[in-house]
Amino acid sequence: MTGGTALVTGAARGIGYAIAQRLAKDGWAVMLGDRSDDVENAAAALSQESGNARVAGARCDVTDEDEVEALVASVVNRFGALDLLVVNAGVGGGADHLTELSTEAFDTVIGVNLRGAFLSVRAAAKVMRLQGSGSIVTVSSVYARVPVEGSAAYSASKAGLIAMTKTAALELAPFGITVNAIAPGYIDTPMRWDALRNRARLAGTTAEDLYADDVASVPLGRYGTGADVAGAVAFFAGSDSRYVTAQVLELTGGRPL
Ligand code: NDP
Repeated sequence: MTGGTALVTGAARGIGYAIAQRLAKDGWAVMLGDRSDDVENAAAALSQESGNARVAGARCDVTDEDEVEALVASVVNRFGALDLLVVNAGVGGGADHLTELSTEAFDTVIGVNLRGAFLSVRAAAKVMRLQGSGSIVTVSSVYARVPVEGSAAYSASKAGLIAMTKTAALELAPFGITVNAIAPGYIDTPMRWDALRNRARLAGTTAEDLYADDVASVPLGRYGTGADVAGAVAFFAGSDSRYVTAQVLELTGGRPL
């Protein structure tokens, strides 16, 4: 075992699961948190696949303060410390223009992507402050700084997340804790395909056609994978990045923004 102990939110599938996979393979003790009932099965499968017995899963909705506090406490109880938090849980915002966007839809996106991130960072930072060490990595999006039609709530949540990440980095630096953000572009996950289907419906085309257009706009010629994002997390969590904090790493395959 080479790594420390990690908590990844929204880890039952997609990018979060890929991050957990990488950490488990690298010898970290990993807790997968997710609101989905599948999370415990996902963790069991990952434990078997990686041969790492220190992999566990627990249900947790990041919008629920008590559940988040309990999840962080369970990591410490089970693994003895919390060295890495990956704030990954997130929802897409649909594709409605701002004038058609319901208040409820806006609140849901901000609630998961921003409030949920706040609750997660706060709970983990209290533990890390006592330890005098730790890394926090948040998963934002390039939509934080690039305007995209139909993305008012999502973009606002991800821009807010970057501002919060940089503030937390400043406040936690005296305790030896680094806080950085990853801003992915197109990553091949269920959420991305939901977004493609939403856009296709509005544009009267197919998700596959839009996917092909997207890929053509990426200099590296493909969508990113969860493993690509996990590689960036491994850097921010590892010993080579101890002087790196308050940064945003954009993972776009070279796509000009
Ligand atoms: P997925 O929808 O594939 O996976 C997200 C996971 O998070 C799901 O298991 C989901 O559960 C869970 N989740 C959602 N809401 C909550 C909640 N309130 N509490 C706990 N878990 C929750 O998404 P991706 O893997 O694509 O996205 C992961 C992160 O990466 C998100 O923050 C997203 O915004 C960001 N991102 C993704 C990009 C992409 O192209 N895919 C690009 C840029 C950023 P459920 O199934 O119940 O919804």
